[in-house]
This record gives sequence, structure tokens and C-alpha cells, in this order.
Amino acid sequence: MKLRKVTAASAAVLALAVTATACGSDDKDDNGSSSSSGGGNKKISIGIKFDQPGIGQKTPDGYTGFDVDVATYVAKELGYSEDQIQWKEAKSPDRETMLQRGDVDFIAASYSITDERAAKVDFAGPYLLAHQDVLVRADEDSIKAPKDLNSKKLCSVTGSTSAQNVKDKLAPKAQLQQYQTYSQCLNGLQSGAIDALTTDDSILAGYASQANFKGKFKLGGFKMTNENYGIGVKKGSDLKDKINTALEKMVSDKSWDKAVKDNFGPAGYKNEPAPKIGDVVK
Ligand code: GLU
Repeated sequence: MKLRKVTAASAAVLALAVTATACGSDDKDDNGSSSSSGGGNKKISIGIKFDQPGIGQKTPDGYTGFDVDVATYVAKELGYSEDQIQWKEAKSPDRETMLQRGDVDFIAASYSITDERAAKVDFAGPYLLAHQDVLVRADEDSIKAPKDLNSKKLCSVTGSTSAQNVKDKLAPKAQLQQYQTYSQCLNGLQSGAIDALTTDDSILAGYASQANFKGKFKLGGFKMTNENYGIGVKKGSDLKDKINTALEKMVSDKSWDKAVKDNFGPAGYKNEPAPKIGDVVK
């Protein structure tokens, strides 16, 4: 997979940043975000999902998922080891606000790059291309195409592209219930209170493959949208170019492929090749 060369502009930004650091400027950036410096105690604060297996999950043994691996790689390239990372939960409706307030330095949380969001925050990436799909009970046979959702009870998450797409175009007549997290929709799907959960296939595949759900759910396979995952940073932050450089390296040294295999392999989730950094697939 060939990536576009780092542009002269971003290389210049990087060079400047390196010089600034060498001259003693700290890594507590000028953009008000929450990284702190100070000898060995410097920390970086990263927003991820806590309840999305395969993507971002808090477990008794630590944090796992594709976004966690990407964020860890990026943090390392920025000069932070794993024990210098403070993980914070970034639920879908909270992401822009967390960045604007400076609660976190960056967010890697199944965060689609959209024009509306890009008016409020900046995005590095994209680093993954997913597609909106539905998760239904294994015995469901009345949802054969996206239009069938119009007569159904659908669940999704407030502030997500998934919920917005349902209302705007995919199934405007569906009865849509919106929660704070996708995992909250799963109980309803199991009990029959809702007919389908809709969000990215990358997330749904992770749920379907959980041991306690094995054989209970299936994906529709509809590929209803393109979801280009980006890493969100505060608007104007110089982290954007540095993160893009790190992402390009992650793809070229094959760490990206390994992270895909490690995190999506168990769920049998097949996604596209690495997206070209800077190219959002519409
Ligand atoms: N990728 C979509 C979004 O950013 C859905 C997944 C999510 O809510 O995290 O809204």
C-alpha cells in the first residue's frame, strides 16, 4: 500500500515542531489541551470508546481494540510511552466538546470525519474506512434491505453519524431510539424491544463475535455509507500534522496491518485496505 509522500508543508511543520521542542518548549501545547510535561512525568490524554470490542474497550486487564493500538502507536511517535497515556472515555455525543474544552489531546474513537464536525475540530487521517450497517437477531428475516428498516424499531447513539443518517436518508420513517452508547442498544436487541441496532460494521462485528452473543445476532451486510475514521484534535492544533506523519509510518511499517489482524481478525471483520492519509472517501 503506497501512501502519498508527506507534503512539504507538513514536513516543514514537523521540522518546526522538532526545533521548538529541542529549544525547550514543552509538550503542553499552545492549544490548551491537556498534555503535561515535566521530566519523566509527562502524560498524554487520549479519548477512546470503552464499550466497543475490537475498537476501544476497557477490560479488567487494560484497554484493547484497533483505536487503542492506533492511538498507542501515535502517542509513541509523539514521544509518549504506554504508561504515559491517560485513557478517557469519549462517548459519541461528547467528542467535539471534549476536544474543544481541552479534556483530551486527541480522540481515536470510531470517529468519522464529517464536514459538520470538521467545522468544530480538526481531523488527522483517515486511518480506517468502515460502513454503516445493521445488527439484527439471528432469526430475523424481514430486514433484507435498508428500506425495510422504515417499519422497524431501530436503536443507535445520540450524536453519531449512524443516527443522523437514519433520520436524514436511510430510514426516515423508522422508530429511532437513541442512547449514549451502542452497548446500551444490545439488551434491547436481545429482548426484542428493538428490531435492529445500526452503526458501523466495524463496531457491529465486534459485538456479534462476543462469546455471550455467539449465534444470537447477524450483520445485514448493507454497506449503507462510507465512514472515514479520523483522529480528532482541537481546531488549529499542530498535533494534526504530527499525527498524520505517525499514521503514514504506521501503515508503511505494517503495524497498521497487524493491528487490523489482531483486532478485527477474531470477529471475521473484513475491511478495506489502509486509506490514503488525507483522502476521505465520500
Ligand atoms: N463512526 C460513526 C460516528 O462517528 C459511528 C460510530 C460512533 O458513534 O462512534 O458517529
